Amino acid sequence: MEKIIDENKQGDSLVLDQKTENTRKLYIESYGCQMNFSDSEIVASILAKEGFNTTQQLEEADLVLVNTCSIRDKAEQTVRKRLEKFNAVKRINPNMKVGVLGCMAERLKNKFLEEEKIVDMVVGPDAYKDLPNLIQEIDEGRNAVNVILSKEETYGDVAPVRLNSNGVTAFVSITRGCDNMCTFCVVPFTRGRERSRDPQSILEEVTDLVNRGFKEVTLLGQNVDSFLWYGGGLKKDFEKASEMEKATAVNFAGLLALVAEAHPKLRIRFSTSNPQDMTLDVIETMAKYKNICKYIHLPVQSGSNRILKEMNRLHTREEYFELIDNIKRILPECAISQDMIAGFPTETEEDHQDTLSLMEYVKYDFGFMFAYSERPGTLAARKMEDDVPEEIKKRRLTEIINLQQKHGLYRTKEHVGKTEEVLIEGTSKKSEEHWMGRNTQNTVVVFPKEQYKIGDFVNVKINDCTAATLIGEAVGYSENN
Ligand code: SAM
Repeated sequence: MEKIIDENKQGDSLVLDQKTENTRKLYIESYGCQMNFSDSEIVASILAKEGFNTTQQLEEADLVLVNTCSIRDKAEQTVRKRLEKFNAVKRINPNMKVGVLGCMAERLKNKFLEEEKIVDMVVGPDAYKDLPNLIQEIDEGRNAVNVILSKEETYGDVAPVRLNSNGVTAFVSITRGCDNMCTFCVVPFTRGRERSRDPQSILEEVTDLVNRGFKEVTLLGQNVDSFLWYGGGLKKDFEKASEMEKATAVNFAGLLALVAEAHPKLRIRFSTSNPQDMTLDVIETMAKYKNICKYIHLPVQSGSNRILKEMNRLHTREEYFELIDNIKRILPECAISQDMIAGFPTETEEDHQDTLSLMEYVKYDFGFMFAYSERPGTLAARKMEDDVPEEIKKRRLTEIINLQQKHGLYRTKEHVGKTEEVLIEGTSKKSEEHWMGRNTQNTVVVFPKEQYKIGDFVNVKINDCTAATLIGEAVGYSENN
């Protein structure tokens, strides 16, 4: 059971409001992390101004774009399979053009055009504003590539269109790239160095969402705690900033406070937090504002100090426990989730037991667990042999998943008997008669629909649970409506 952040949405094609003056049809499909889905909204916004309406009918598309993920080999194989399908459609509709966007485009660059003859255009995550020029190139019969990574680009000036939206929850990108250089991870190579977006443009986007009726935003970045705005530019160049720029800089706690204060009824979430960068002021800011949700996604990857060092995670197991203790002390109600990698090179049985004992200490509410997948070009791939046999990786992964299931149930049981505020997001997947929403801890809650509607904040009495879902009944509107 491998999980990526929102598995249900993998490969979703995206549709937005149609403009009557637009005559060309765009089919856009996204894979991987939330940032990719958010990027597709930026791409659709840029192309809406270039005469494209989105469609969910692959067969009628003039342009097919696939926003790709490189995080594990499996993610790349999924995209390769999709390209085969696009190839079959292209035989029926030879005028259809195919473009590859995102991390896989950045990793493979020109090689994509050689390996996948069907591809007309390859565009990296920092080059979306060049799409109008690149599309002109392919319209004129040439292949087009732009995989230049940027020091500045944050797309802060592009108002993303919300694709396939429930009208209630939305993602807002606050940083791009990553400077962490975890040895297993391809992200710094595919998304470039870390830069933060102007808080003013973030606030404007959030305010626009609120005005359009949205009730919850998730601030997105590979490492949100590292957010630092000092007038633009790379995070690593902050030391070269002027005294004035340093004095007026906004960090992540500052950004959270800014958004929370501007919109007291809006729910605010964020993802992903990196333990090495998560500071006490962020936890204290979460405690200060009721509308900042009490949930932290805090990947640890391994419980072994030796493996954490080999992964270049810049904290120890003990420092992680200290952070967990601080979260639980300041925010006793806070839910915590993990990402874990099983079978990193040289991982021994003892290291694996350290991971299980770390999990026992924290008892995470949720988890996203993966078998190590060697990624070409990463430090681990260059320096370490992928030496844990596949069946051992799988067995360790299963043990981690089983333990997480047990802890998930332990955590959901803690909610039974309580009455909690839930924001309704849509109909339950299992029953037309039930709503699905989330509490502040991000746990899914299902309950009978009655007179309530999507976007309502409802107090729900929790009567029962599974390892991942709370089951209850509404007792009335919450005061947040
Ligand atoms: N930036 C976040 C961090 O470092 O904590 C998350 C980045 S990544 C998009 C999401 C998750 O994918 C990681 O936390 C990690 O567990 C997993 N992952 C990344 N590279 C991997 C690899 N080579 N093999 C298996 N899992 C990997």
